[in-house]
Amino acid sequence: MELVGNCLCLDFANTVARRPEGHGDRLTTMDGLLTWAQAAGVLPPDFAGGGGVALGDAIELRESVYRTFSAVAARRHPDPDDVSVIMNTYAEALCSASLHREGDGHVLRWPGERSARAVLWPVAASAGRLLLEGPLNRVGECPSCGWLFLDTTRNGSRRWCSMAMCGNQVKSRRYYAAKTTHRGS
Ligand SMILES: [Zn+2]
Repeated sequence: MELVGNCLCLDFANTVARRPEGHGDRLTTMDGLLTWAQAAGVLPPDFAGGGGVALGDAIELRESVYRTFSAVAARRHPDPDDVSVIMNTYAEALCSASLHREGDGHVLRWPGERSARAVLWPVAASAGRLLLEGPLNRVGECPSCGWLFLDTTRNGSRRWCSMAMCGNQVKSRRYYAAKTTHRGS
């Protein structure tokens, strides 16, 4: 499973590619959602719960996160309805969380939570904090597949979800297109 977003909420948005038609959607079943959550470290590997969350709620949050940060990446204002979905789930997450001291601050934890709804809380908290604290000028969208990422390169030069997946593909397509054009002329 590719986690290239550098940010939990962006990895959640990346559970489908190439919107609007959608490619390789991982959230078509409840099992898919739980598998992603375990791979992303949101749920413990031995999680045996389930229920408590409708798949539709997960998709609604995911698409709101995608549209919001896709707009941010394009330096546009996000749709207030999408931001509301994120902030309402973030509020619900805060009400269910406890604070744990870590380093010089605190982290949110949802101890003993056996409801799969808890999958949505860390995602919403991640999205809410990214909106509140940024760095929004580091949010990018891969021009090839539409995956979102937080650019952590020193000079902010990241363009692709990953060089292996889209960067090289697009470059070799361009290379062959240029070669073909050259031959044809
Ligand atoms: Zn890509």
